[in-house]
Amino acid sequence: MTGPILRVAELRKRYGNHEVVRGLSFAIHRGECFALLGPNGAGKTTTLRCCLGLIDPDGGTIDLVGEPVPKAAREARIRVGVVPQMDNLDPDFTVEENLLVYGGYFQLPRQDLERRIAPLLEFAGLAGKAKTSIRTLSGGMKRRLTLARALINDPDLLILDEPTTGLDPQARHLIWDGLRQLLKQGKTILLTTHFMDEAERLATRLAVIDHGTMIACDAPRALLAQYVEPEVVEVYGEAAKTWAETRGRALANRLELAGETAFCYANDAAPLLADLATHAGVRYLHRPANLEDLFIKLTGRELRD
Ligand code: ADP
Repeated sequence: MTGPILRVAELRKRYGNHEVVRGLSFAIHRGECFALLGPNGAGKTTTLRCCLGLIDPDGGTIDLVGEPVPKAAREARIRVGVVPQMDNLDPDFTVEENLLVYGGYFQLPRQDLERRIAPLLEFAGLAGKAKTSIRTLSGGMKRRLTLARALINDPDLLILDEPTTGLDPQARHLIWDGLRQLLKQGKTILLTTHFMDEAERLATRLAVIDHGTMIACDAPRALLAQYVEPEVVEVYGEAAKTWAETRGRALANRLELAGETAFCYANDAAPLLADLATHAGVRYLHRPANLEDLFIKLTGRELRD
């Protein structure tokens, strides 16, 4: 297959009067890790569900692993692995049985399936757990098993909807290690995430979407260079607000107050730091701009449901 592994053009989807995906276009190429970022309700899951042919779009075209979706969604899905937002392992089955039953959907010969199980469990850090009941696994183990399950058909594209939501930092790192390993093997990944550090560590390209439309799409570093000043000083403490209004605004290229913190964005933070050093009642953190800053700049600070 040549061309993008997934191409979405002018995708539209509405629920009642609410158009939740409004003309979204993007393409993912082989070997990429493409992250869809957006606040809650931005339309990320709906987009993934359209791409998998699980719901019908109201407009636009989708081409997944060379097949038109939804028309040939079943054919396309055979070559795709999916990690859904909520784990849906069968609690009545063992680890191994879950993989076997899932593999059955792809009509893989039983012998092939059985041969794949040991290396997949090894990959997921679950070696020796084949006969273990799902009920006794930790959240992190379940997530890793769901990832292993998504690989049972040796997919060309792996689609992950918030792969580490609800996991503790150790468990998240294990998932990231697994995903990096897959990328090294040349797999292609599409993921949605709320975690900017996840996107920063994994994504070769990312798209920020809000209200169903694409706001920006590029490599993380290119987006940072385009949209955000390179240096950030976070100022907090009892005198932070007064300092921000009397001194900070003039010294920063851009200043935002959020709760008790003043976020100062600057091309050169030296004047800000010099001023802060002489000011009582403020504490501060000087750091390079990151994807969180980009995300807030593009989508705002107000809370979404
Ligand atoms: P995200 O994954 O970015 O958080 P979703 O795609 O889940 O966003 O949801 C986008 C919007 O569509 C939300 O406002 C959500 O409430 C709405 N929505 C999602 N699924 C349905 C549905 N089955 N029926 C009605 N509204 C839905």
